Amino acid sequence: MNIAIIGAGMSAAAAVTVLKQQGCQVSVFEKSRGPGGRMSSKRALAGSLDLGAQYFTARHDDFVAQVESWRKQGLVQIWPMQPWVFENSVLSRSDDQQVRYVGTSTMHQMLVPLFEGVDCHYQCKINELSFITSNVSSHSHGQWQLCSEQGECYGGFDALLLTSPPQQSRQLLTGAPILSQIPTDALLPCWAVLLELATPTGVKMDAIFVKDGSAGWIARQSTKPGRQSARLRDVADAPEQWVLHFTADFSARELEASAERLSELAAAELSRVLGRTVDVAAALCHRWLYASYNPALAPCGVLFDRKMQLALAGDWALGGRVENAWLAGKMAAEKLLELRDQSGGAR
Ligand SMILES: Cc1cc2nc3c(=O)[nH]c(=O)nc-3n(C[C@H](O)[C@H](O)[C@H](O)COP(=O)(O)OP(=O)(O)OC[C@H]3O[C@@H](n4cnc5c(N)ncnc54)[C@H](O)[C@@H]3O)c2cc1C
Repeated sequence: MNIAIIGAGMSAAAAVTVLKQQGCQVSVFEKSRGPGGRMSSKRALAGSLDLGAQYFTARHDDFVAQVESWRKQGLVQIWPMQPWVFENSVLSRSDDQQVRYVGTSTMHQMLVPLFEGVDCHYQCKINELSFITSNVSSHSHGQWQLCSEQGECYGGFDALLLTSPPQQSRQLLTGAPILSQIPTDALLPCWAVLLELATPTGVKMDAIFVKDGSAGWIARQSTKPGRQSARLRDVADAPEQWVLHFTADFSARELEASAERLSELAAAELSRVLGRTVDVAAALCHRWLYASYNPALAPCGVLFDRKMQLALAGDWALGGRVENAWLAGKMAAEKLLELRDQSGGAR
């Protein structure tokens, strides 16, 4: 069975793992330069920077086992942090005992081996899909063809899995019967800002959940294991780097704001929460149009259209977060394997 997957984030990686184990041929199409999706880290002089997912948790037995395996391979470590909470203008230590993991040395490190040996097409944004049907010995069978923004077409796929944000998948599946099941506003935006300070704050906190104001999350990058580059590891006065995520409401209101404005707002917010002035040396802003799950929606589950040999999955299908992306990718692969089992393994 020959399967095409759009996206190379956590859900696609989980699907690829199951499909490869079952002997399927898999081709992956990803618009970015490599795997990671919303878990991507940026490489910088001071090491790797996490502008998307900050950590992940593991609650489901299957994912706990998977994380343990990654830990043994050195791809994941526990982030030994104790979060703080900023609420009603008061900063207090949280008694939260949640175990939090990070990929090392980049957040998406564990995805890299999962895509090894797979036919991956990076920097390949798919902008057109066709399902071409034919009647063979009284039952109808179709094949998917994918065409990229660059005008290249790839065909002959027995099944298709989309792991792109649902808002983007809707555009690719205009007119398809499954369209009515794809949520319209499942993922909300987030502005992420990295602030590198010229003078240290001296604050020892690792991460802060901000409950009032325009930020939702503030974390000190260097407190994560494996983040600092070898070049800076011995330098005692490596610059302090703080990552700040603005809330979904604020990010939606400021969607078109300039990097300059966002850097200033982020510095003001960091200063307000820490209760001291901050001296910013450099800033980096990243806009995620589709970041985190909309808590007002009930998750729709993994979507599957048997007739069209089509599945849609991602964190959004199960309520957001890295763990749900992995679980959803696995479920989608199992659904697609039903197609092969029903056709007697002929495909
Ligand atoms: C700012 C931010 C903070 C977060 N914090 C946390 C956290 O602390 N803990 C946690 O558990 N989760 C967090 N998350 C959520 C977590 O990152 C996601 O749950 C997870 O990475 C989703 O994986 P996915 O495979 O479902 O989707 P994605 O990672 O979004 O993968 C989809 C992929 O599809 C690609 N794509 C889209 N359209 C096309 C196309 N037309 N052609 C080709 N490729 C395409 C995209 O480039 C992307 O790589 C955060 C996310 C963000 C953005």
